[in-house]
Amino acid sequence: MSKKVRCLIIGSGPAGYTAAIYASRANLEPVLYEGMQPGGQLTTTTEVENFPGYPEGITGPEMMEDFKKQAQRYGADIRMGRATAVDFSVSPKKVTIDNEFEIEADTVIISTGATAKYLGIPDETKYAGQGVSACATCDGFFYRNKSVAVVGGGDTACEEATYLSGLASKVYMIVRKDHLRASQIMQERVMNNPKIEILFEHNTLGLFGENGVEGVHLVKRLGEPDEEKVDIAVDGFFLAIGHHPNTDIFKGQLELDSVGYIETKHPSTHTSVEGVYASGDVADSLYRQAVTAAGTGCRAAMDAERYLSEKGL
Ligand code: NDP
Repeated sequence: MSKKVRCLIIGSGPAGYTAAIYASRANLEPVLYEGMQPGGQLTTTTEVENFPGYPEGITGPEMMEDFKKQAQRYGADIRMGRATAVDFSVSPKKVTIDNEFEIEADTVIISTGATAKYLGIPDETKYAGQGVSACATCDGFFYRNKSVAVVGGGDTACEEATYLSGLASKVYMIVRKDHLRASQIMQERVMNNPKIEILFEHNTLGLFGENGVEGVHLVKRLGEPDEEKVDIAVDGFFLAIGHHPNTDIFKGQLELDSVGYIETKHPSTHTSVEGVYASGDVADSLYRQAVTAAGTGCRAAMDAERYLSEKGL
C-alpha cells in the first residue's frame, strides 16, 4: 500500500501534537503516526505543573490526551504505528510504517523525541513514580525541604543538582569517576554550592524504602582493595546520565550532531533536507521541556506550510 500525504508527522509528544494542531488548521491535512509510546515522555510523568494554562496542574497522560483531541478537532488524522525507515533522497519523501507499508509525503515533521538513559537496575522500575525521576524541572517541586540524589557528572547532572538545591534541603551528586565531566563553570557552580555534596567514585547498587524511595545503596571505589558499601538517606533519586535522541532511522538521511540530535537551521526547524523539519527533544539537548517542544512543533508546521505554498504543492 502506498499513499501520498502533504504533511506527515512522526511522533506524538507535545511537539508532534502541536505540529498537528497547526498543520490541520492550515489545511495541510496532516497524518500523524504516534510511534511506540503514544503521548511521548510525558505519559511516564505524574503531575505536570509547569505547562501554562493548567493552573491546577494536570497529569502527563491527561495533558497529552487534550493535545490529541485538539488536533483531531481540526481534522488531524492520528494513527497508531511507528516509522521504521525513511528515504529522504527522493521527492515526495518516503516513510515506511511498521516495516509493512510506505507513505509518500511532500513534507515530514520529525518529533520522535529523546529517551532518558537509566542505569538499568531493577529498583528504578520498582520505584518508578515513587521517588525515581529523570527530570528535575518536572519533579523537583515535590522534594521541597527534602533530601535528593542526582546520578551523573555531566552538565545535565550539574544543572539538575543546582536546580534541585533551590528546593531541596540537601543534594547528593553520585559520580562514578573521581572527577566531573561537566564544563568548568558548571563544576564550579556545584562545588561552591553548600547544599550540594559530591560523592566521587560512587556507583549505585540499589534503592530502598517501604512506600517509595527512602535511600540509596552505594558502593565506593568499586573493584578497588578499599571498596566500601555506603547507604545514604534520600527521598528522591534523579537520573541525569544523558538522553538518547530517537534518531536511529534518520542516520545517513539527515545531518545529526555528534550525539545524534538532528541539526536544524536556527531559528527555523529546517533540517539538512528541504521539506523535512524537526521539532521537540529530537533536535533539542538543552531545554527538553513540554512547552519548548510545543513551541517548535508550531514552528515546524508553519515551516512546512510555507514550503508547500512556495512549491505550489
Ligand atoms: P553527558 O554524556 O555529558 O554526561 C553523562 C554523565 O553521566 C557523565 O558524568 C557520565 O559519567 C555519567 N554516566 C553515564 N552513564 C552512567 C552510568 N551508567 N552510571 C553512572 N554514571 C553514568 O550527558 P549530559 O546529559 O550531561 O550532557 C549531554 C550534552 O548536552 C553534553 O554535550 C552537555 O555539555 C550538553 N548540555 C549542556 C548544558 C548547558 O550548556 N547548559 C546543559 C545540559 C547538557 P562518565 O563521565 O564517567 O562517563
